[in-house]
Amino acid sequence: MIVPGRLVLVGHPVAHSLSPAFQNAALRSAGIPLVYEALDVRPDALRATLERLTRERAAGNVTIPHKRAAFELCASHTPVAERVGAVNTFWTDGDALAGDNTDVGGFQRAVVGELGHPPRGPIALLGAGGSAAAVCAAAEEWDVDIRVLARSQSSASALAMRFAKRASVVSTLDAALAGAALVVNATPVGMHDDDGLPLPVALLPDDALIVDLVYRPGATALVRQARAVGRRAIDGLSMLVEQGALSFERWFGVEPDRHAMWRAVG
Ligand code: NDP
Repeated sequence: MIVPGRLVLVGHPVAHSLSPAFQNAALRSAGIPLVYEALDVRPDALRATLERLTRERAAGNVTIPHKRAAFELCASHTPVAERVGAVNTFWTDGDALAGDNTDVGGFQRAVVGELGHPPRGPIALLGAGGSAAAVCAAAEEWDVDIRVLARSQSSASALAMRFAKRASVVSTLDAALAGAALVVNATPVGMHDDDGLPLPVALLPDDALIVDLVYRPGATALVRQARAVGRRAIDGLSMLVEQGALSFERWFGVEPDRHAMWRAVG
């Protein structure tokens, strides 16, 4: 196992992130002598920071708002990072940075972990940003259709064009939700607001799994209210832990102790 010189999370802001807690738990459990540090890096300092981290043989994660810029700054990418056009995981390969996107696998594992199998029907996808692109890449592998509903028609169209084999734009909630097997909130609605809902829960299809990519202590309003009306719903914590576990495997070539990771955030 090649141990990186340093292990970091690069974002802005990053103080709220749960990643240091569960990554440090995994490092301790594996006996790896590193500490995963959160680095608050402003957009105008990203290039210089990644250059310094390359010299330090660092590895790590990238979060909001740097995932697309980090993709541009990595010299090589995995096919899944190429597909999404964003990097959330990097490591030093020789004297350059390589990038991966484990949000895709993290989302897939969170959904399959809950359902016991991949979704067997269409996905209603709210939002058309970076995490929505990861959901589209996941759905391509599952071979299910995606209905993209976003407040910006141009972002929705651009996303659907990139994933044209499976994704199409819809303009109403009814069109997005009819017969959906999965409903995914990929907007930040509910992140800072205890009551914020990306859609009325009364409209949720009976048999769909609701996945809110947002997470909050005590669950988001969408998850709480969907469960209250008898729907199956999970928040973004499982995706977060799973993307982190896949990053850990990428850096160290071994699976992390997921129980230790969950204990750290539980
Ligand atoms: P982006 O900024 O890339 O995209 C956000 C999308 O939501 C855009 O389509 C944006 O529209 C839309 N949007 C923003 N505000 C609103 C609003 N008030 N009403 C309706 N639509 C809105 O963000 P990400 O895709 O990276 O992240 C989205 C959420 O997912 C965040 O809360 C993030 O924390 C969470 N996330 C969770 C992960 C996990 O592991 N659980 C991983 C990644 C993200 P517009 O373009 O018009 O602004």
